[in-house]
Amino acid sequence: MSNTTNFILGDSLAAARARLADALAAAGRQADDARLLAVSKTKPAAMIREAWEQGQRDFGENYVQEALAKQIELGDLEGIVWHFIGPLQSNKTREVAEHFAWVHSVDREKIARRLNDQRPEGLAPLEVCLQVNVSDEGSKSGVAFDELEGLAEAVLSLPRLRLRGLMAIPAPEEEPSAQREPFARLRQALDRLRERFPDAPLDTLSMGMSADLEAAVAEGATLVRLGTAIFGERDRTS
Ligand SMILES: *Cc1c(COP(=O)(O)O)cnc(C)c1O
Repeated sequence: MSNTTNFILGDSLAAARARLADALAAAGRQADDARLLAVSKTKPAAMIREAWEQGQRDFGENYVQEALAKQIELGDLEGIVWHFIGPLQSNKTREVAEHFAWVHSVDREKIARRLNDQRPEGLAPLEVCLQVNVSDEGSKSGVAFDELEGLAEAVLSLPRLRLRGLMAIPAPEEEPSAQREPFARLRQALDRLRERFPDAPLDTLSMGMSADLEAAVAEGATLVRLGTAIFGERDRTS
């Protein structure tokens, strides 16, 4: 089912690491200022295991049922960190609260409250990024910039959530300068939140994918979400 023919995961993972290292150096940033989140949606558990064996620990999934099946299969992998990065509906919050360490796609208070109420006591607080709509038109998910501070304040009041930062998926752009602009606005929004909430653990800018990693790193990304560049093309669109 998967298109793994002639595809060597170790090579693409090494290339992705080198690409991130080059982008950080080009931006005058430290080598450990950003890390790779390997986006494994639609890819088999065996590929995740292979990436883990090469030292990758953070994995991003978009579909709850698919992710839970893989988590069961990969229950023996020590230190693996599961990030939920897909659109999140109310009826899926419980599974996400119970089975993930991070959620990048919180964009409304109702979802945040459900995640907080459903986060099991035995687990650490859920690490949360707020997804921001940086490209206005066309995008259905993400909080608007002018509603961000209110949402952040609400999330900061929820004890089972830890607000770590912001996430965005800008509309695709070919030109590097056009790619940078929405990332710059996301960075500025995080800076404003840091000023407004100086005690909050706001250290994360989840931005940059296979097509725009360099632009995101130039604007301060701390977690880049790479799917295709690590695991190859996906069979179905997402
Ligand atoms: C699929 C996906 C990615 C990875 O995209 P690539 O272009 O394959 O690197 C990153 N972030 C989110 C939210 C995604 O859904």
